[in-house]
Formats: sequence, C-alpha cells, structure tokens
Amino acid sequence: MRVPLVDLAAQGAEIADEVLPRLRDALERGAFIGGPAVAGFEEEYAEYAGVRHCVGVGNGTDALELALRATGVGPGDEVILPANTFIATAEAVSRAGATPVPVDVDPDHLLIDPRAVAAAVTDRTAAIVPVHLFGQTAPVAELLPVAGTAGAVLIEDAAQSQGASRAGRRAGTWGVASGTSFYPGKNLGAAGDAGAVLTDDPEVAGRVRVIADHGSPRKYVHEVVGLNSRLDAVQAIVLSAKLRRLEEWNDRRRAAADRYDELLAHVEGVRTPRRHPDNTDVWHLYVVQVEDRDRVLAELVEQGIGAGVHYPTPVHLTPAYAHLGHAVGSFPVAEAAAARILSLPLHPHITAEQQERVVTELARVTSRP
Ligand SMILES: *Cc1c(COP(=O)(O)O)cnc(C)c1O
Repeated sequence: MRVPLVDLAAQGAEIADEVLPRLRDALERGAFIGGPAVAGFEEEYAEYAGVRHCVGVGNGTDALELALRATGVGPGDEVILPANTFIATAEAVSRAGATPVPVDVDPDHLLIDPRAVAAAVTDRTAAIVPVHLFGQTAPVAELLPVAGTAGAVLIEDAAQSQGASRAGRRAGTWGVASGTSFYPGKNLGAAGDAGAVLTDDPEVAGRVRVIADHGSPRKYVHEVVGLNSRLDAVQAIVLSAKLRRLEEWNDRRRAAADRYDELLAHVEGVRTPRRHPDNTDVWHLYVVQVEDRDRVLAELVEQGIGAGVHYPTPVHLTPAYAHLGHAVGSFPVAEAAAARILSLPLHPHITAEQQERVVTELARVTSRP
C-alpha cells in the first residue's frame, strides 16, 4: 500500500461533475482572464476568509510582493520574517525591493518568535511578515503591538492557513493585508498557479489591482512599473468548487491529525506537533521531529510512504540569501528543527489504514539503531 503525501486526484474526482460544465461554458464563451467567474470567487473567498476585499492574483509569491508594495514597502526598507519558511516569503520581500531580515522561531511551534522580532526592529523596519506555517496561526496578537511600536505594517503569509484561526479570528485578517497561495497542494488548491491578496482596506486592494495589472488603473495608463499577475477563470471555477468543500476537508485533516497524535503517542523517539490552545489549526502539514531524519526519510520513501521535509534549509542558509551575511548558528532553533523535521502524509482523503501503515513503518524505522 503506497501512501502519498497529498492526493490531488481524489479532490479532483469530488469536484469534476460540478466544474466540467462550467469549464466548458468558459471555453465556449472565450472568457479566460477576469470576468464573472473570477469576480464571483473573489467575493466568495473574501466572505469565507473574513475580509472586505480579496484580489485574485497569479500565485502566492506575487500576492505577498503585491501586499508589501501596496502598503508602501520598498527599497531601503527592512522586512522581518521567520528563518524557517518557504523561500517565497523572502523572495517576495526582495522582489518588492526591500531587505529580508530573518529571525528565529519558538521551539514549541516553530513559528516566528515575537521576542526575536522585537529585538530585530531598527528604524528601517517597514513590515513584519509572520508565516502561519503548517496551518498553525502565528502569534499575531503579540506581534501587533511590536509592529505598532516599530511603525511597521503586519503582512501575513497565509499560504498554508486557509480556514485556520487564532482566538476565533481567521489567520490572514490580523494584519493590514495578507497574501495566500492556491498552489494545487495547498489546503485550497487550484488546477495550476493562483493566489490572492486579502485586506479590509479598499485603498490597499485598489493599489494591488493597479500594480498587478501593469501599473495600470485604466487601459494604457501606466502609473508605476507593475507586473502581470492575474487570476484566470479556469482557476476561479476550480477554486469556487473546492471552497465549498474546504470546511469539510479541513475537518478531515483535523481528524487525521488527531489520529496521528493517538497512534504516535506511544512511539518512542517521535515528537508530535505541539498545538497552541488559542489556535484552530488546519494541518496543511503534519510535522513530527525525529533523530537521524535523513535516514528515516529515505527508508520511509523506500517503503512507499510519501514523507517529505518542509523545509530542509532555513532561508538564511540558502545560497540565494548568502549575501545577508548570516552563518550556521545565527538562528539555532530554526537550524536544529531543519535537521529533525519530517512531514507525514496528511490530506483530506487519507484513510485510517494508510495512517496506521505510516505509523507502523515510522516506528520500525526509528527504533532501529
Ligand atoms: C506556497 C507558499 C508560498 C508561495 O506560493 P506560490 O503560490 O507557490 O507562489 C509562500 N509562502 C508559503 C509559506 C508557502 O507555503
């Protein structure tokens, strides 16, 4: 029995009957970029996410760049972000012309540490970008006063947190704006690349639309050097259908996470993910920690278990960001975690039998000297 990390075909099968007629209709009408399907999804997602404005864009990396640029972040500015995140968080900052400033994370949840953020603030700090990694909402309530004191905006990376909340308030609604990704493997995934900027501020939303459309508020009027980053109708049709199932799919992810917790409770040498009492998590990834991770990963993969590592190299140790001047030892918590973390297969369609197989193999592989 193979156990894949994600199962996008199962999601596709659930929505096929619903989306195929709408896709045929889009083909027949030739409506591909923008149009009613895109506007409809933007409205649905804004309502679901708990914000006034959702602007659909080309992908999550663009969404973060656009959110930063639309809130005035640019050249000469510093942007604080966690050292352990997907590289896109830092890329978005660089693309906006600003300088990423990585900081360490808390050892329990591996989320950005507010004390490390406060210590990294300078008079050039223009934004703080917490990442709601693995579907767990970062400590936003603690970060808001830090941002306030620094005179910085809070821009959330909500790529892995669709449907998550903290203290009853959705991830992605705490800051001035947030960026999310609808990459196919995310909790809400498109049939290709897609993303969105979320904000309550109509001016920020308007600026995102202008920058994302060649800096153009009206046809052939170009106010700033923008980019081309649009959500298309095919993605919007798929996203609308999946959005209707997102709550149920997130419930199933939570049930699967509970089952792993139970099954792993008595497996020695495997640290299960900590949960924050204020959080309702959506388990984009279920990340355990083990010794000798690379060997454990290799042996699991050999047995047909689709485990993975998110992410093997903290931002500051990637060649791309060597120019920031950090070295091994700069952010010890993120670095130690990177050597131990292991993502187990978890998705809405995983079965109890598949999870039992994963745990049996993991227990066997980790108990071996
Ligand atoms: C996926 C992801 C992104 C980027 O999204 P893309 O749509 O792939 O550009 C940014 N940040 C995090 C944390 C992600 O997981």
